[in-house]
Amino acid sequence: METVLKLEPKEFSILKLAEELAELQEVLLKVLTKPKGALEDLRLERLIEELGDVKFRTMVVSEKLGITKKVNERVLDKTIETAEACRKRY
Ligand SMILES: [Mg+2]
Repeated sequence: METVLKLEPKEFSILKLAEELAELQEVLLKVLTKPKGALEDLRLERLIEELGDVKFRTMVVSEKLGITKKVNERVLDKTIETAEACRKRY
């Protein structure tokens, strides 16, 4: 992480996050739309890979923009909001 933060241009980091989001989107759509079978384990591996990629790139962009603390606060707020929605829905 330290080397990426030091050497990678901010604009490129943002593009990489967008790229990883598109890859995650593709995997999520395929998980839901393709029939289950022999490819199931492969899709799970791809899902793990892309979730990890997005998490890493999100951390990089947050650091590059100096907003990590605020993003973490948003995660806490979102956790509370989602818990409240779940209690009402389920
Ligand atoms: Mg990826």
